[in-house]
Amino acid sequence: AARSALASWSGPGATADGVPVKILANVADGESARSAATAPVQGVGLFRTELSFLNRQDEPSVDEQAEIYGEVLAAFDGDRYVVVRTLDAGSDKPVAFATHEGEENPALGVRGLRLSFGNPGLLDRQLEGIAAAAATTGTETWVMAPMVATVAEAKEFADKVHALGLKAGVMVEVPSAALLAHRMLEVVDFLSIGTNDLTQYTMAADRMATDLAHLTDPWQPAVLQLIAITAEAGRQAGKPVGVCGEAAADPLLACVLVGMGVTSLSMAAAAVRPVGAQLAAASMDECEDAAEAALSAADPTAARDAVRALLV
Ligand code: PEP
Ligand code: MG
Repeated sequence: AARSALASWSGPGATADGVPVKILANVADGESARSAATAPVQGVGLFRTELSFLNRQDEPSVDEQAEIYGEVLAAFDGDRYVVVRTLDAGSDKPVAFATHEGEENPALGVRGLRLSFGNPGLLDRQLEGIAAAAATTGTETWVMAPMVATVAEAKEFADKVHALGLKAGVMVEVPSAALLAHRMLEVVDFLSIGTNDLTQYTMAADRMATDLAHLTDPWQPAVLQLIAITAEAGRQAGKPVGVCGEAAADPLLACVLVGMGVTSLSMAAAAVRPVGAQLAAASMDECEDAAEAALSAADPTAARDAVRALLV
């Protein structure tokens, strides 16, 4: 039955009892966007703009940037939308024209939004390129910042994006942002939880360290609690809270996230059908029970076993 559900699921995303959940794609450039656009997704939940710049020595001009972003936006016209993430340079994603040299701990250093704020011209030019691409294509465009730690950062970023007439959000990747999600939502229109970095920073375990895989596991109860706090803040504020880290690509965990109140799931295109089909097989009540079971489990293995017993 599961196999035929997988083969036949064709979107849009919803639980078995019809509660809508947006299923979105993570993309890197025009080519991956055009490919993802053929999947049953309602848009893009994470466009990693820095991936277009990893092999560039110099910052692309505003016009060049508008063209790069426009390729992705053009693939999702009509009633779909694209969440563009501003440059997430530094640490595991070195960009030649936006580096901060000589850091002992790059993952805790000047990276993501910190790097953009340290070079305000860079951020303003990128936002200009995004706004130009949005105007040319007519695609609904949301803009979000990576690696936000304080409400003041979120407000400064949102003010810039709102001045361009676009929706503004921030990623929840740092535990401080999850703990203050309700205050973040007073200044932004949406939140998107990046579980890869949120797990890394919650567990103090390098996401690239294979020997720490037992810690860099989004099923860790501490990580799940921070996600639940963030999703609940979204429910209270009546604003969207999505997940765009690897956790959203795990079909069982996706149901847990929805049970916590997450309103969208963004993932690599290959995960869209397995996640969509699993979600379509579980009612919202079952997702909420799964969330409760995962949150009260002692460890990731117990959480997985408990959720599997409820949903499979
Ligand atoms: C994340 O950290 O979960 C995320 C989606 O961003 P990235 O993987 O690009 O750091
Ligand atoms: Mg991240």
